[in-house]
Amino acid sequence: MAGPSLLLVVLVGVITWAVVLPGDGEDAPYTAPIPTATLVAVDPTGAAESLQRLVAALADGDRASATALAAPDDGATAARLGDLVDVAAAARLSDVTMRYIDDDGGLSADGTWAATVDVGWAYAGFDREPTSTEVSMRFRSTPAGVAIAGIGGGDTSVRTPVWMSGPMQVSRSADLLVVAAVGTDLAAYVRLAETAVPTVSEVVTSWRPRLVVEVPADGAALEAALGTDPGYYAQIAAVTGAGGPVGNGAPIHIFVNPDVFGGLGRAGREVVLAHEATHVATDAPSSQGPTWLTEGFADYVALRETRLPLTKTAAQVAAQVRADGPPSALPSAAEFDTRGPHLGAVYEAAWLVCVSLAERGGTADLAAFYADVSDGTPLDRALRRDFDWSRADLVRAWRTRLRQLPGAAA
Ligand SMILES: [Zn+2]
Repeated sequence: MAGPSLLLVVLVGVITWAVVLPGDGEDAPYTAPIPTATLVAVDPTGAAESLQRLVAALADGDRASATALAAPDDGATAARLGDLVDVAAAARLSDVTMRYIDDDGGLSADGTWAATVDVGWAYAGFDREPTSTEVSMRFRSTPAGVAIAGIGGGDTSVRTPVWMSGPMQVSRSADLLVVAAVGTDLAAYVRLAETAVPTVSEVVTSWRPRLVVEVPADGAALEAALGTDPGYYAQIAAVTGAGGPVGNGAPIHIFVNPDVFGGLGRAGREVVLAHEATHVATDAPSSQGPTWLTEGFADYVALRETRLPLTKTAAQVAAQVRADGPPSALPSAAEFDTRGPHLGAVYEAAWLVCVSLAERGGTADLAAFYADVSDGTPLDRALRRDFDWSRADLVRAWRTRLRQLPGAAA
C-alpha cells in the first residue's frame, strides 16, 4: 500500500516543480514550452563541466572544441570562444581556471541563465602569480549538454578581463607583452612601451623590466575590466593595477583607456606610458607612501627627459596659482579622485614636489627617498635623512617653485 502512494507523491512533486520553475512567477512573459524538463533547469553541474572543457581547450589551443561549447545556433558566442583560444595561445596564458560559483537569479525567459564564475589566469613569463576575479557568464541547457551562451558583462561586482572581452591582437617579447583589442593600434602601443622601459630603468635601476600593457576596445571595456562604475576613468588615459583584487601578489599591469589615450599627442602618449611603467616598476599599488609621492614620482620619471615646456607640463597648476596663490599644504589623497575637478592641476603640483626634491638632492636621492617611503619609512624621517629637510622646508621650496611657473604670476 505504501509503495504506490509514495510514488504518486513524488511524481506530483516533479511535475509541480517543472511547471513552476520556468515561469518563475505569474508575471513572467509567456515563452514557448521547452520539450523536456532537463532543458529548462539551471544546471550548475553541466555548466561546470562545460567550463572545464573550455579550460582544456584553452590549454590545448583547441579552437574547434572551444567553439563547440556554444549552442549550434549561437554564432556570436562561438566566435567569442574562438577568440579566447586565439588570445590564450598568442599571449601564452597559463594557469587558467574557471570555477562555477552560483547562478544570478535563475532562468531568463530565453532559457539562458547568468552565473558568476571565478576565473584565474596568468601570462606565462610575466606574471608570478595568477590573477583571479569573478566574471559573469551565461549558460543554456541543450540536449547535448550545457552550452556557453555569453561571456562577460554584469554589474560592478564582477569584471570582464581584457583577454575575455573580444578579439585581441598580441605582441610578445622577452620583457614586453601587449594585449590590445582588435581596432586599436597594437604597433603604436608596442613602440610606446618599448620607449618607456629605458626611460623608467634609468631612474628605477633595480627594475628588471617585465611590462604587460592591456588595451581594451574602449573606456567602457576598461571599466568592465577593472570593475568600476561607468565614467570612473572617463578622464584617465591609462591606469596601473591588477585585473582582479589587488594584493596576494596579484600581477600589476598597465590598462589603457583608448578613448582618452587616442586624443593625446605623441609626447603625451609617451609620458602616460612611462608614468604607468614607473608605477609597475615600483609596484606602486602596494606603496605605503602618500599619493602625491606615487604620482609625482611617476611624472618625474616620465617627464625627466622631455622637451615639453613648463607652459605645457604645468599650465593647469600655474593657472590655479595665479587665481588662488600656491597651496599651503602638500596635495591630499582626496584631490587625486579620478573624477575630481582639478585632476590635471594636482598631478602637476605633485610632479613639482618631486622636481623640488630632485633639485635639492638629485635624481638618485629622489629614487632612494621614494623607495624608502614606499616601504614604510615615515615621510619626515626619510626627508631628513635623504635631503636634510623638514616637511616645512619641502613645502616652502615647492611653493617657491610654483610661484616661479610661467603664467603663475597675476
Ligand atoms: Zn599614476
